[in-house]
Amino acid sequence: DTSEVRRQTARLAADGIDVVRVAYPDLLGTDRARDVLLEELPRACTHGLAFCRAVYHTSPQGDVVPVAGGLDAGLPDISVRPDLDTLVKLPWEPGVATCLGEVIDPATGSPAPESPRDLLRAVLARCAEHGLRPVVGPELEYYLCDPEPGPAGGWRRYGGHAGVVYTAGLRADPDNHLLRTLRHVRDLNLGVLSGNHEFDGGQFEINLVHSEALSAADRAFRFKAAIKELARREGRLATFMAKPFNDAGGSGFHLHLSCEDTEGRNVFDDASGPYGLSDTARHAVAGLVAHAPALAALLNPTINSYKRFGPDTLAPWLIDWGLDNRSAMIRIPPERGSGARLELRLGDASANPYLAVAGTVAAALLGVLAGEEPPAPLEGYGYDTSRSALLPTTLTDALDALEADTALAEVLGKDFVSSFLSYKRNEVERFRRHVTDWEFTEYAYHL
Ligand code: GLU
Ligand code: MG
Ligand code: MG
Repeated sequence: DTSEVRRQTARLAADGIDVVRVAYPDLLGTDRARDVLLEELPRACTHGLAFCRAVYHTSPQGDVVPVAGGLDAGLPDISVRPDLDTLVKLPWEPGVATCLGEVIDPATGSPAPESPRDLLRAVLARCAEHGLRPVVGPELEYYLCDPEPGPAGGWRRYGGHAGVVYTAGLRADPDNHLLRTLRHVRDLNLGVLSGNHEFDGGQFEINLVHSEALSAADRAFRFKAAIKELARREGRLATFMAKPFNDAGGSGFHLHLSCEDTEGRNVFDDASGPYGLSDTARHAVAGLVAHAPALAALLNPTINSYKRFGPDTLAPWLIDWGLDNRSAMIRIPPERGSGARLELRLGDASANPYLAVAGTVAAALLGVLAGEEPPAPLEGYGYDTSRSALLPTTLTDALDALEADTALAEVLGKDFVSSFLSYKRNEVERFRRHVTDWEFTEYAYHL
């Protein structure tokens, strides 16, 4: 209400804030924002901020691509209303606070169908109907890059040493990027646990604490935006692209999932069940296994995503699960009791956090409702194609699997699925017509 908005505005002014950055996630999970002068904030809360209804990207073919109700309707407005409950000061930009925005369709006054945050809310409401409250812990990996010297432009991996996983300090991070970043994202209230150097030179991971699923997705979304911004402040590029380099592993977006009942008890734990897991946990695993090909479309949403998968990568390649086994698509970490959970290792860092969490929760819920049993767990080192089915190997295959998975589409919403498919198929078609460097090197000299 307006008196609450006035109170918040006065508090921000007293805190030395004069600009509020209002950000929302688009269909791809990219942060889109307006910097709003503090004196305009009350008006923005009443009337919303107007944005053009489209998914924006940069390509030689153009800047906007259709989403439902977007290009085909003449690119009308969507309205973004600041959510003041999410206000936080930007630790690195004096005078600026930031908050999330709710995406409203002005024609209906309701959430826009392509709003990923509302899609996740709808999936969580489904869970609540069954007394289930999903709990999610996001782990995101990314690469930090330095500008390539010389006029050609381009980016090369920061640090650049191999075999640096879990190396702390200057040996693998000569400019102390991780410490600086960790403190900034902590001050942004993102629930940061720890950070570490990952397997490849220039690759880092920061772990966020587990929480109720919407807050986990909000924090993962804001985390990605913060990391990209902080890297630019250092004159660097941080990328959550799935597999940016041929000579280094990809970047995962592992999701730890458990589930509470209405009393806050972790319903994945059962000391007397097989593997110490409850029926609910095993059914959730079965749901993730059953819907994995369709889920890949959401958790591995780019053409590049499928280059991360493969044997001996620590990324999955097959649709399988195992007990504390990092070569499986789903790992059951060893903790039980309140820490009983699964780790879905399928997703890559390029995924929209809201869609990744929504898809994961939806597939797990379908498994629970169907009472499905998972296949036998993987024993030993995985990647054996004689034992389990392959994940989709291209974005096209994953999109087709999503379209064919009517049960999942029903939970996610048919409008969303058709919007997502139309956007992503356009992306596939743009790529299909693009001649890559690999083709020139492979063919031009010999043929
Ligand atoms: N980078 C791996 C992936 O793409 C994960 C490595 C790890 O287990 O931390 O999923
Ligand atoms: Mg990792
Ligand atoms: Mg992990």
